[in-house]
Amino acid sequence: MDRISVMKPWLGTAEIDAVAEVIASGWVAQGPRTAAFEEAFAQHQQVAHAVATSSCTTALHLALLVAGVGAGDDVIVPSFSFVATANAPTYVGARPVFADVDAATGNITAQGVREVLTEKTAAIIAVDQGGMPLDLAPLRQLCDELHLVLIEDAACAAGSTYQGAPAGVGADVSAWSFHPRKLLTTGEGGMLTTGNASWAQRARQLREHAMDVSAAQRHSSTLAPQESYGEIGYNFRMTDLQAALGLVQLGKLDAMVERRRALAARYQQAFAGIPGLRCVTDPGYGTSNYQSFWLEVGPEFPVDREGLLAQLASDGISARRGIMASHLQPAYAGHSGTTTALPVTERLTANTLILPLYHQLDEQQQDRVIASVLAQALAAAGGE
Ligand SMILES: *Cc1c(COP(=O)(O)O)cnc(C)c1O
Repeated sequence: MDRISVMKPWLGTAEIDAVAEVIASGWVAQGPRTAAFEEAFAQHQQVAHAVATSSCTTALHLALLVAGVGAGDDVIVPSFSFVATANAPTYVGARPVFADVDAATGNITAQGVREVLTEKTAAIIAVDQGGMPLDLAPLRQLCDELHLVLIEDAACAAGSTYQGAPAGVGADVSAWSFHPRKLLTTGEGGMLTTGNASWAQRARQLREHAMDVSAAQRHSSTLAPQESYGEIGYNFRMTDLQAALGLVQLGKLDAMVERRRALAARYQQAFAGIPGLRCVTDPGYGTSNYQSFWLEVGPEFPVDREGLLAQLASDGISARRGIMASHLQPAYAGHSGTTTALPVTERLTANTLILPLYHQLDEQQQDRVIASVLAQALAAAGGE
């Protein structure tokens, strides 16, 4: 029996050829391919500016810097997210303050944010968790009213939509991930997008040691201009090897989303009406790319989350525990930004699991996953 993975990137000969071409060109660091990838990504995501980075984590770091968030500021974030969301504010000397999430989407809400506002709140990092688009309009309204910066951690959300437009468009600045756990991958890599030209320009310089002349500009001129360093910057660059991969992957993104949404619909149909199982589903206001397809295991189900994971593992299926809760990690033990109880976060992190879902998963494999999940429910219903 073949083992079924929880995820797999969709890579092929086009990616191999694209990377080989970059190697043959001799220009492997950030250069023309990175610029082309930025332009193509901005166009696909309907944003004015895209700045490629080494990861989403470094894009979040830059987003906070260009937005002027720093020491003494509070940044409201979900605890229910990969830990990088909470870590980013600490890199700039700010304090992450945890807001609880909505049980249906796993995302923070304007109401949840209001409950944890402080005098020092300067920004919000809202996440499109697992690709589920966040409900932007109420957060946008709140941020406009209180003059807060709205940052979108869209790490998982390439291909998700909000009110008919790509996710990430309505935030002041958004950060994307191209880690292989997401749909579109460059191995490691990220992107910062924004409508603000001066923020984009500053992000471009900060990712490259804050040099006022980019390495690409210097390398393409015979007599390089003298560069200067106006502030302390970072090396958060993407390489052209990664960007070449990204360009091919971007061309496949729409197909990936379509396939994942079809497979997600099959899971939703199979588990509809099973007592104690709840699948993630599209919210009314948008569509998910189903980067993570999660299932909540409730008390009416014959086994708990751990029991179901064990069942799947014994059937050769690799599933995963659901999204983590940062406030429960040792790194955030006793953290002053945990100012309220987070009951929905704790419920979801304890009772959800992520099922296999990726482009190449075929229907027969998916039926094996479905049968494994339903075996417990059917046995209980049979009254054995
Ligand atoms: C994956 C992920 C990140 C981190 O992305 P990297 O590119 O690995 O730095 C940040 N936030 C969320 C919500 C993620 O899912």
